[in-house]
Amino acid sequence: MYLGNIMEIGPTEELFTDPANPYTHALLSAIPKPDPTASRDRITLHGTPPNPRYPPTGCPFSTRCPARIRPDEHENLDDEVWDGINGLREIIRERMRADRSIRERVRERFGLETRFATIDETYDELFGDLSVPARVERVLAEVTDAAGDHEEREALDRLNAEFGSACDGVDPDGGDDPVEPAYYEVSDSGRLSYCHRHADEHRETAAVIDDRS
Ligand code: SF4
Repeated sequence: MYLGNIMEIGPTEELFTDPANPYTHALLSAIPKPDPTASRDRITLHGTPPNPRYPPTGCPFSTRCPARIRPDEHENLDDEVWDGINGLREIIRERMRADRSIRERVRERFGLETRFATIDETYDELFGDLSVPARVERVLAEVTDAAGDHEEREALDRLNAEFGSACDGVDPDGGDDPVEPAYYEVSDSGRLSYCHRHADEHRETAAVIDDRS
């Protein structure tokens, strides 16, 4: 379960031997191995779980998922840049409901040692050491401009238009209706997984996690 949602449910042995959901993959990768010399493929989840009172739109695991679906044009974007985009999205969401200083909330959520007094400093902290492609940089400039003017809704809409996917509740065909996560049957035993990645048009979870790790 993640944020009160069953992410995958089925026979125990299947869950351990053939996990389908990205969250199940992450949980299993965190189990210590008895042999310290064995190779470990632990999946690192960035950030901390969102406040259950304010779950993300779309999939509850979308802010930390290692297999999150990306728009085709950003499928090969550097993972650190992608993580920075996800971090920026979360910070802007936090600003929308800030009831205490941004600095305090950001430190608490992301554990970053930074001042975060302005959105420009946030940008520098997240992307300052990274090589950001020009197109991404242009969009991020628009996003930070809007956020700097306290137009957080506009900033999030711009982020979602460029980087969003079904994982964020964004309709890939451009429709206005939010896309809700769905359960897919992933084995003959009737095991269910709550993830858009099981739709035919997407690559399999394990392959994506391998590529990105
Ligand atoms: S719907 Fe997207 S974010 Fe959620 S578990 Fe699946 S790939 Fe990850």
